Amino acid sequence: MMSKTAMTRFLDAGDVAALVRGIGPDKALAQLADEVRTDFLRWREFETSARVASHSPVGVIELMPVTDGTQYAFKYVNGHPRNARHGLPTVMAFGVLAEVSTGLPVLLADLTLATALRTAATSALAARAMARPGADTMALIGNGAQAEFQALAFHGMLGIREVRAYDVDAAATARLRRNLAHVPGLAVVPAASVREAVAGADIVSTVTADKARATILTPDMIAPGVHINAVGGDCPGKTELHADVVRHARVAVEYAPQTRIEGEIQQLPGDFPVTELWRILSGDEPGRTAADDITLFDSVGFALEDYAALRWLHACASARDAGRRIELVAAPADSRDLYGWMMGAGPARDATAAVACALRRQGVAAG
Ligand code: NAD
Repeated sequence: MMSKTAMTRFLDAGDVAALVRGIGPDKALAQLADEVRTDFLRWREFETSARVASHSPVGVIELMPVTDGTQYAFKYVNGHPRNARHGLPTVMAFGVLAEVSTGLPVLLADLTLATALRTAATSALAARAMARPGADTMALIGNGAQAEFQALAFHGMLGIREVRAYDVDAAATARLRRNLAHVPGLAVVPAASVREAVAGADIVSTVTADKARATILTPDMIAPGVHINAVGGDCPGKTELHADVVRHARVAVEYAPQTRIEGEIQQLPGDFPVTELWRILSGDEPGRTAADDITLFDSVGFALEDYAALRWLHACASARDAGRRIELVAAPADSRDLYGWMMGAGPARDATAAVACALRRQGVAAG
């Protein structure tokens, strides 16, 4: 018999999609932004570390842990810009939320959708504190999986009314337009080039995927007063901005030790001045000091945002009893009798599966 308390809530990709659809994407973004903000405001309570990354020529796989001493979370996430040719997303993720007091994982969930939500929510939180007041136009360069979420977060949280969209793949921009056609008060206007999209925009978001030192934005494109939300450069050797764009901006980052390795600022010396976002959100540091400051949120994605997303998902799913409660970890009723539990009735279905597997290996069809 399993211990009655050792159950983990499991949310697969469909469960998370149904939850977010039920809440409504704009409301979900707003709720998640509140959670992310609340957690950034208690930054000092967290044990933080840069994520652990394993690079290959085509992508990266990363593990992102964080804890506040009460709950522990980690996310597994990849970044493979050429995955579309395999019919797979560039970014896929799942994560675990566990209680520190016992180590029990209380939630195992797909975080692919939640990554898009929390990234957009964090971008909009940063922009709300850094962009010029009254900003209502945003250029959105890179119209892939993250794009709708970015557009919706900036529309809902900052009042962006016009998104000027550009992608090297015109079909991506067409999809973005189609998907957001129903959103009242938001116009998605296709642009013929990055330069055309950026001209006159209050905010410029770059959300492209390429495992390269790309130069999506050059200094001549950026007018005084613009806020740049740079999302796609998030790995060593993977950047989107000309170094001079970064050099002349007031730069905010999530967690400096990680961003210096992964963000746009990897192009600049290790002592280039940056401000961590939690200091701006808490009011310790200004987001901008003058109307003509060029401000830059050098986003790479930090574990704290996934912790907030996991806690938010857990609360939403528990309130609706969404997903399934599974025996993710072996926890016998007699907690020290793991062997007896294995040999007993608890894992009977495993014994059946093992017999079927052994028969298959011997070439005998299992009934
Ligand atoms: P995606 O592959 O679904 O979309 C990327 C889009 O960028 C594609 O439509 C592609 O055609 C376009 N693109 C590539 N090069 C371009 C260029 N030079 N100019 C214009 N468009 C170009 O990827 P996604 O899931 O939308 O992710 C986008 C980027 O954001 C990735 O690099 C990913 O690693 C990064 N990301 C960052 C965070 C974060 O927290 N900072 C979170 C999630 C994703």
